[in-house]
Amino acid sequence: MSYEPLTLKYRPRRFADLVGQEAVATTLRNAVKSGRLANAFLFCGSRGTGKTSTARIFAKALECPESKDGEPCAECDICRAIARGDDIDVIEIDGASNRGIDEIRQIRDNAGYAPARARFKLYIIDEVHMLTIQAFNALLKTLEEPPAHVKFLFATTEASAVPETITSRCQRFEFLRIPVAAIVGRLEYICAQEGLSVETAALHLIATKCEGGLRDALSLLDQAVAYAGATLTAEDARRALGLVGREVCGDIVRPLLAKDAGALLQGLDQALERGRDVEELIDDLVEILRAAMVASATEQEHASGAQRELADALQHAWSLQRLMLALRLLLNARREVRLAGMGRIQLELALLKVMHSESLMSAEELRALLAAGGQGAAPARTFERRPPAPPVRAQPITIAPAPAPVQQAAAPVAAPVVAAPVAAPVAAPVAAPVPRSAGAFSLETVQAGWPKFLSLLGEQKKRLAGFLDGSEPASFVQGLLLVRLRSEFACTSLGEKAQRDVLEESFLGVFGTSVSMRFEALAAAPAGTVSAQPPDRDPGAMKLMSAFDGTLVHKSDNGPQVKE
Ligand SMILES: [Zn+2]
Repeated sequence: MSYEPLTLKYRPRRFADLVGQEAVATTLRNAVKSGRLANAFLFCGSRGTGKTSTARIFAKALECPESKDGEPCAECDICRAIARGDDIDVIEIDGASNRGIDEIRQIRDNAGYAPARARFKLYIIDEVHMLTIQAFNALLKTLEEPPAHVKFLFATTEASAVPETITSRCQRFEFLRIPVAAIVGRLEYICAQEGLSVETAALHLIATKCEGGLRDALSLLDQAVAYAGATLTAEDARRALGLVGREVCGDIVRPLLAKDAGALLQGLDQALERGRDVEELIDDLVEILRAAMVASATEQEHASGAQRELADALQHAWSLQRLMLALRLLLNARREVRLAGMGRIQLELALLKVMHSESLMSAEELRALLAAGGQGAAPARTFERRPPAPPVRAQPITIAPAPAPVQQAAAPVAAPVVAAPVAAPVAAPVAAPVPRSAGAFSLETVQAGWPKFLSLLGEQKKRLAGFLDGSEPASFVQGLLLVRLRSEFACTSLGEKAQRDVLEESFLGVFGTSVSMRFEALAAAPAGTVSAQPPDRDPGAMKLMSAFDGTLVHKSDNGPQVKE
C-alpha cells in the first residue's frame, strides 16, 4: 500500500476544513454566496498558512454547480479536477518557475474565450511576486479590463514585492500565522484519524517549531512518525526534530533563578561547546521568557514540554516587570550580536544583567527602561540617563531617611549599588548608605561602589579590569563619568570604543545606570597640583570630550596656571 504524505491526505477540501483562517474563509464564502466578486484577489501570508489551499477551495466554491452557502461540495467532477490541479477552466501558474512574459501573454490571449464548462475562467498565480516586470505589465493590461468571466487569484509570501499597480486592483486577504493551539488541535484530530498514539507535548513541540504553518507542521509530524513509529513521545519528537539542544536552556535558566553566576557561565560555556549557536541560544531563551511573560500576563499556558517547565519556574519566581526587562535585555543582546558580533560576551553580559536585574531596578526605573527600550535605541542608551529631578512617585524602600524627601526619593538607584551583593552571596547585607550629594546618582555613589565594580569586572574581564587597577572615578557630570587611570597606555586602551562599550555595559549591569566613560591619566593630574578648576570638572572640557567622543590623555599644566 502506498503511503500518502499527511500534507496531501489532509489538505483542506472545503472552507470548513481551513484551520486558523476563519475570517478569510467567512469573507470568501459570503462573497460567493452574495455574488459580489472582485476581479482579482490577493492572498498574502507566510508559507504554510493555507493560501494555495484557500485559493483552490475558493475556485471550487466559484465553479461547483452543487455549492451551498458558498461552500463547495468537494465531490463533483469539477471540484475533484480543481483539487487535482487539472481543471480545464482553473489554470494554476507557479510564478516562481513561470516568471516570463510568454506565460502571461498566453493568459491574455486565452482570457477572451469563454470557460469550457464552468462559470468562470480562473487564474491562480502562486508566488506572484516572482513575476518579471514585463510579465506584470502584460498582466496589468488584462487586470485593468478583464472579461466578466475571468477572475484572478494571486498568492504571495511577499506582498511588498508585488507592484502597487497590481495590488491596488485586488481584494486583499492577510493570512495570519496559525496559533499553536489551533495547530495542536488539528494534529490531534489527524493523529486520531491515523490511529497514532502521540503525547500532546510532542504535538506542542511540532506546533511551536513550525512557526504558524500548518503544512510544515504536518511534514514534521510525518517526519517524527517515520522516526518513532505509531507511538510518539515528546522525547522522540525532540530527537526527530533536532531539538535536543534545547535542553541546555535549563542549564542556563536554573542558575539564573538560583543567582549562581558561576553555574550560569558554565552552563553557557557547555552550550556553546556543544555547538550551539549564540543567536539560536538567545532565540530559545527569548522563547522561554516570552512564554513566562505571556503566562504571567494572561494566566494562560503557552509553552510546552521542557520549555513549559522552565517558563513556569521563571513565572513563579519573577514579577511580570522583571520578565519583561529580562526579555528586553536579551532582545537587545540579540540585536547587538547581529550588529557588532562578540556573541559570547554580549550574551554573558545580558545574562548577568538579567540575573541582577531585580536588585538594580526599582519599579519606576523598570517602567522607564521598558518605555525607552521600545524605541530601537542602542542598548547602552536604552537605560536612559535619568533627569536631575525626576517626578516623585514612590518612596524607595532601601534608602535611609533624610530631611529632603523629594530629592531623596528621586534616587532609587543609589542604594542598591551597595545594599545588593552582586555575584558572590554576602551573608550580611552591606547596609551603610552610600553618601550622596543631591540625592541623585552621583560621583560619591560611583566612588562607593567602585571597588565592588572592579572586583566583579575582574571576575569576568581580567584584562579590562587590569587597566583599571588603581583607578579612581574623578568626576561625574551629566552622565559623563571621568575615570583617572594609572597610565596613558591604559587611557588609550580603554578609550577604544569597543572596550569602552564593554565597560559601560558592565557599569550598567552593576550600578543599574548608564554612563559614558572617559579616561585621563593619573600622572597628568598629580595630587597637589590640581587647580581649583581642574579641567576634568571644567564643563568646557567635559563637553569637548563628550562631543568628540574623546579621552583626556594629557592635560597641560600651563593652562590652569596661566588662568590663575
Ligand atoms: Zn463540487
